[in-house]
Amino acid sequence: MLGAPMSEVSKNPERDDSAAPDFVADIIREDLLSGKNGERLQTRFPPEPNGYLHIGHAKAICLNFESAKLAPFGTCNLRFDDTNPVAEDEEFVRSIEHDVRWLGFDPKERVFFTSAYFQRLYECAVVLIKKGLAYVDSQSAEEIRERRGNYHRVGENSPYRERSVEENLALLEQMRRGEFEEGACVLRAKIDMAEKDILLRDPLIYRIRKVLHHRTGDEWCIYPMYDFAHPLSDAFEKVTHSLCSLEFENHRPLYNWFVENVGGFDPVPRQYEFARLELTYTVLSKRKLKQLVEDKLVEGWDDPRMPTLAGMRRRGYLPESLVAFCDRVGVSKRNSLVDVSLFEHRIREDLNVHCNRTMAVLDPIKVTIENFAEGSEEVFEVPVHPEFAERGNRQVILTRHIYVEQEDYMEDAPKKWFRLAPGQEVRLRGACFVTVKEAIKDAQGRVLELIVTWDPESKGGATPDNRKVKGTIHWISHKDAVASEVRLYDRLFTDENPAGHEEKDFLEFSNPESLQRRPNALVHKSAAALPAGTRVQFERLGYYCVDTTSTADKPVYNRTIGLRDSWAKLAGK
Ligand code: ATP
Ligand code: MG
Repeated sequence: MLGAPMSEVSKNPERDDSAAPDFVADIIREDLLSGKNGERLQTRFPPEPNGYLHIGHAKAICLNFESAKLAPFGTCNLRFDDTNPVAEDEEFVRSIEHDVRWLGFDPKERVFFTSAYFQRLYECAVVLIKKGLAYVDSQSAEEIRERRGNYHRVGENSPYRERSVEENLALLEQMRRGEFEEGACVLRAKIDMAEKDILLRDPLIYRIRKVLHHRTGDEWCIYPMYDFAHPLSDAFEKVTHSLCSLEFENHRPLYNWFVENVGGFDPVPRQYEFARLELTYTVLSKRKLKQLVEDKLVEGWDDPRMPTLAGMRRRGYLPESLVAFCDRVGVSKRNSLVDVSLFEHRIREDLNVHCNRTMAVLDPIKVTIENFAEGSEEVFEVPVHPEFAERGNRQVILTRHIYVEQEDYMEDAPKKWFRLAPGQEVRLRGACFVTVKEAIKDAQGRVLELIVTWDPESKGGATPDNRKVKGTIHWISHKDAVASEVRLYDRLFTDENPAGHEEKDFLEFSNPESLQRRPNALVHKSAAALPAGTRVQFERLGYYCVDTTSTADKPVYNRTIGLRDSWAKLAGK
């Protein structure tokens, strides 16, 4: 839901997740116990291939595939709801299937297309006409809208409502053969124009669209409406539990009407509605995501800032984090906005375990260790992961010339500054202690190089004379350093609920600093030739992932997420 009230933002990332509510599972268990559908448990995930999937869809995917596991014979179909050829495309079909599998769900051979049912759906329409429950209406779209009425005014019957069965059958056939122009007529269900529920006032079944379909080509020039095609596709596939988001709640009577009046289905599919997933600082609507892509505010559907599954994959999120997060949020009937930091917390926890450690310097500044002989080197063994000794060790090499982070040096440092400053001793992570002797600057006063000395006694992390050195910084030897580009990503929006403001467009809240490039970054050579998608932790900096555009000559890294929640710190100030 847009504009969910802030009071509903769930804030606590430490919340006990042992019993996330799932009323759908309760219903399914009850049905299994009572034997309602016999030996059948069938769900489906029904995306429309008109965009890429986002994290909200991941929730629907998890719910459908996991609900099907409640019985050993349960299965979940992936069904492309491709009834609107204008917006749909094979590129989206491919990406959706890929994303579902990436999340860890395998529909196996159960991949279906509503477009494959076009003939069968047409036959259902014929059944309705023959039962006197559908008619061809030759009013204009404008007239249909006008006569539909509204909440205060009942609708009026169409002058074409009483056409004979024969006439309707003939007209539908002519519609199908392309003998009418777009908009000349439509097929409608004959329910009741005085229904309180406007959706039941003779809803549309077919409309004429003379456009090519990405799968059926020019075979059809009439296309079924969602409310007709969806329940019947469920019935064709013997779906038992049709799970969809809350906005379809008021479509349920119509869903049941079509299934019942076409008739002859066993099992009879039932629709259940659950609350959509919405995240703070995020928009989750394909229309809005499409706008970001088309207005070039991001670099495509798989831009690592996008909440799409393709974007999250490229950014470096682990699929199991997404699934665990969706499970933890639970399934409810009440729309709410979930704090994105809850999601990020999960991402961080999983990456901490998954990622091996290495070092990189994003904004390098050259350092010369004055009392370290040119050409000589010290090799240190440090753990690949501090918590998993079984992953072994890696080597870091200390040489006379190394690089450190510009922001780790400060000339006039305040008292509590424990990093590099004139005369202050710090620890080079995994190596030794160094002390700044001098900063070499250009004419503008910018620091070009630091001259330091090291204490050979502190080699390998030993603390000679037990003196205290509070600061530890990351660094990289010129021998280990490979030039690369690092891209730092941040939230796309600065507002908690960017799409929730009536008077302001969501784009007004876009974060101008959502992408920052570090073109001169240096990464450790062991991290330079890793395949795209590999995730590592650059110590002290965060979790990073090799980008899809990365090459061995020019590695490109995406920052997946920092080590700590910098937004929480901001909010706390
Ligand atoms: P959007 O509103 O982003 O355009 P949609 O609902 O039009 O999404 P569909 O392709 O029709 O996209 O969605 C496929 C399924 O995913 C539907 O069953 C829909 O209910 C579900 N779904 C879409 N968005 C969410 C969400 N944010 N949370 C949970 N389920 C969702
Ligand atoms: Mg939809």
